[in-house]
Amino acid sequence: MTKVLLTGASGYIGKHIALQLLNQGYEVRASVRNLGKSQEVRDAVTPHLLDSSQLDARLTFVELDLEKDGGWGEALKGIDVLMHTASPFPIASPKDENELIRPAVDGTLRALRAAKSAGVKRVILTSSMAAVYGCDLPAGKNEFDETLWTDVNHPVGRVAYTKSKTLAERAAWDFVAKEAPEIALTTINPVLVLGAPLDKNFGSSISIVERILKGKDPMLPDLRFAIVDVRDVAQMHVAAIKNKATEGERILVSSETYSFVQIAKYLKSIYPSSKAKTAQAPGFIMKALSFFDGEIAAILPLLGKPMLISNAKATKLLGITFIPVQVALRESADYLVKNGYVKG
Ligand code: NAP
Repeated sequence: MTKVLLTGASGYIGKHIALQLLNQGYEVRASVRNLGKSQEVRDAVTPHLLDSSQLDARLTFVELDLEKDGGWGEALKGIDVLMHTASPFPIASPKDENELIRPAVDGTLRALRAAKSAGVKRVILTSSMAAVYGCDLPAGKNEFDETLWTDVNHPVGRVAYTKSKTLAERAAWDFVAKEAPEIALTTINPVLVLGAPLDKNFGSSISIVERILKGKDPMLPDLRFAIVDVRDVAQMHVAAIKNKATEGERILVSSETYSFVQIAKYLKSIYPSSKAKTAQAPGFIMKALSFFDGEIAAILPLLGKPMLISNAKATKLLGITFIPVQVALRESADYLVKNGYVKG
């Protein structure tokens, strides 16, 4: 049985990947920052397993911290595939960007060095659209594709999270090129990931749906989001393992692009009693608010950006038909309402 070390198994995306790996017959060594989280992961995946017999043998846990050396060598021993998803993904930028950059970059290098030492030849890294879109579209292109790289000095690229994902992905490609050419690396670069979480610890991305349903903003900024369902993201990670055409490739994972207002209108249509507001805020108001609110300041460079993301490579290499955005939105909203996070 193929053995996968999955880092960040306690994350929103990590749990979905663990589930699909188990349902497709892989043995999963799941890493968590604290072994106390093992039961949370087991509880999240168990109700969705096609076969839960021998789960204790097929899903085991190790403790790994992106910022600590301990345990990596041992964790990679006997592993066939490293799937590295762990990376900090906070809602707001920290004061010190290194709080994100250090674990993202150093953690990726720790994982790759340990993989090399253990003789692991296949690595799937969860990168992000953030490593792609922090630049101006070159003349002649009307959508972002995998040939583009975020410039960490560009106004969009210098946001801490964007920088952390860009530098981490760069470090991975550099490491493989210079120090481990025997490793076949694939990066999966998802856009905004939505869709029903497997449990209540669902990370940052769903908070956008929560924020809209709670009517937190009286008006919505002129932002567009390329969106993908979390099940498609997990499926791409798993499908890449045995797909040789994906080796050495970065692959954007995106379904469709919706504006903030479109998202809000759709959510209001399915939950008419929610507090969702659907008016768009004029740019000058956003600019004024950015002086007082760090979250608004961070999105200012994105206002009015069309955010068109190509999924041509994903479709070609992995033959995937993406789940429509409205399904991801509806299932995220249903989860939040059913579990009492927002009133429907
Ligand atoms: P999440 O739920 O916050 O998961 C992040 C995972 O990383 C958690 O398992 C977390 O562990 C782990 N982690 C963070 N810092 C760590 C550290 N110092 N040491 C060990 N583990 C650490 O976020 P997510 O949305 O699932 O994101 C997973 C991956 O997808 C990340 O690489 C993120 O950049 C990428 N991504 C996400 C989106 C999106 O829209 N969600 C889009 C593109 C890319 P704890 O549970 O202990 O905190």
